[in-house]
Amino acid sequence: MRARVLGSSAGGGFPQWNCACDNCVLARAGDPRVAPRTQDSIAVSSRGDRWLLVNASPDVHRQIQDFAGLHPWAARHTPIAAIALTNGDLDHVVGLLSLRESQPLVILSTERVRSGLVDRNAMLRTLARTADQVTWRLLKIGEELVLDDVGVGVTAVAAPGKLPVHLIGLVDPSPEDNVALRIRDLATSRTLVVATAVGSLDGVDALTRGAGAVMFDGTFWTEDELVAPGLGKGHARDMAHVPVGGAAGSLAKLSALSIPRGVYTHINNTNPMLREDSPERADVERAGWEIAYDGLEVVL
Ligand SMILES: [Zn+2]
Ligand SMILES: [Zn+2]
Repeated sequence: MRARVLGSSAGGGFPQWNCACDNCVLARAGDPRVAPRTQDSIAVSSRGDRWLLVNASPDVHRQIQDFAGLHPWAARHTPIAAIALTNGDLDHVVGLLSLRESQPLVILSTERVRSGLVDRNAMLRTLARTADQVTWRLLKIGEELVLDDVGVGVTAVAAPGKLPVHLIGLVDPSPEDNVALRIRDLATSRTLVVATAVGSLDGVDALTRGAGAVMFDGTFWTEDELVAPGLGKGHARDMAHVPVGGAAGSLAKLSALSIPRGVYTHINNTNPMLREDSPERADVERAGWEIAYDGLEVVL
């Protein structure tokens, strides 16, 4: 199985359009210590011809352009066999609107994420121009859904998360609002875990057990990363992102598990580990984990 990080940034991208934090200033200036990154998306394939996208980021058009594996083979064609959504956050779903052009799509999500997107949303009707344009295949927690053309099975695991911001107050929270995915190669049974929004470390042992590689939530280094410099009001865990650093952070926990390959992705532009000469990055690397960049590949 081959997994390619198409976009390794959290929502907003890196640099973020309205941000002049230290990292964004360096990235905008072309400083070699900080590579710009597009927003969260991963492409997975068993044989390397048909692909499963995990999330459809606002940058999907450019991400397809930048990776020849996703280029069409014919006048009207896409090798994207399916798109799995881990939650309804806009940085994970807005790209669907860029994939219209009457292209038939298969979308995997929980029923909650589907209804949060489609119900009362007139714009999503652009993906329903014809009855056969979008095929929703519903992910039920704990049940593997097989994609024969990609050669993988996808199992959703409820992850501690939250409703997308635009649905808060409209519907009650549900365990189906935010999921991690275990993606199993049908030929080898090797498993990739993708967990890009994880609000607490509860259940992380079971989530990652037996995985050959884990791509994990690297959004924030500290709990008050946005609050302390006055960039925002939300703490990391309030936004369903357990921080990487500190004694209660994910690095301390994950690096103690026997995970053959661990990669942090979905990294917010404020996270100091983005800088290649930072002590935070050194901490991650010393613990045996990696920091994703756009184009990073994991083969397992
Ligand atoms: Zn996100
Ligand atoms: Zn910034």
